[in-house]
Amino acid sequence: MSFLPLPAWPLLDDPVSALIVAVVVGLCVGSFLNVVIHRLPKMLQRAWDEQCAELHDEPSPEKAAPYNLIVPRSACPTCEHQITALENIPLVSWLFLRGKCSQCGARISIRYPLVELLGGLLAGLAFCFFGPSWQALTACALLWTLLALTFIDADTQLLPDDLTLPLLWGGLLVNLFGVFTTLPHAVIGAVAGYLSLWLVYWAFKLLRNKEGMGYGDFKLLAALGAWLGWPMLIPIVLLSSLVGALTGLGLALFRGRDHHVPMPFGPFLAVAGAVALFFGSAIAHWLYPSLSLPH
Ligand SMILES: [Zn+2]
Repeated sequence: MSFLPLPAWPLLDDPVSALIVAVVVGLCVGSFLNVVIHRLPKMLQRAWDEQCAELHDEPSPEKAAPYNLIVPRSACPTCEHQITALENIPLVSWLFLRGKCSQCGARISIRYPLVELLGGLLAGLAFCFFGPSWQALTACALLWTLLALTFIDADTQLLPDDLTLPLLWGGLLVNLFGVFTTLPHAVIGAVAGYLSLWLVYWAFKLLRNKEGMGYGDFKLLAALGAWLGWPMLIPIVLLSSLVGALTGLGLALFRGRDHHVPMPFGPFLAVAGAVALFFGSAIAHWLYPSLSLPH
């Protein structure tokens, strides 16, 4: 694969300094993703409640205090102590506070530093794999969005349109410039990604009256098709189904999980998409030896 070099931006023109900048920026983005993961589902719920009230001609719920990704400022859920800037340094603050609130000593979930760490690691991985290039820069946007979607889906079984649709358009836009694949491969990838899971969904629904997944999953696979091109759809679906089935089996065996309770499929699609991003060319050349791929 030939990488599209970035313009000579300071710090990004050298592989090592670019890698360091990517990891540091990734840690900070991870910190913001924690807010997105926590607040976006709540914001959607609020918007739906308001729409329902409007639809039923009920008096709209009392205008509550604004709640979005910026306001109110983050606070400890136990004592409502506002997190100061010093307590908000990705990873460092959590380690320094030993995972406890500075005021009341309530435990701060390990999930927060974990998401920050993943934000940094994924950005680092993108710059290791692709060097300082447009591929690396845009891969960061894809990976960070997948990270947020993974946790939101695991928590709420939702893949919000506010993330999946911009991701889809983003993929088409990026490949307008042939960053990961050709535009025709991206467009067919988006359409085939959506349709393939849509067909599986309806087949299941008609044959067994069971809903195996949600519309969010179709949109996420459409987005991955737009980013990576249609040839990547088969490995993504195979890998995510395999890992999903094994995880479901493992949880049922070892944790006594009820296998009738649906398991979110988004996290598995996201992980398979990340694997396809990094190892896509190798997988594609192995799967389609005769197909001439753009990279
Ligand atoms: Zn507290």
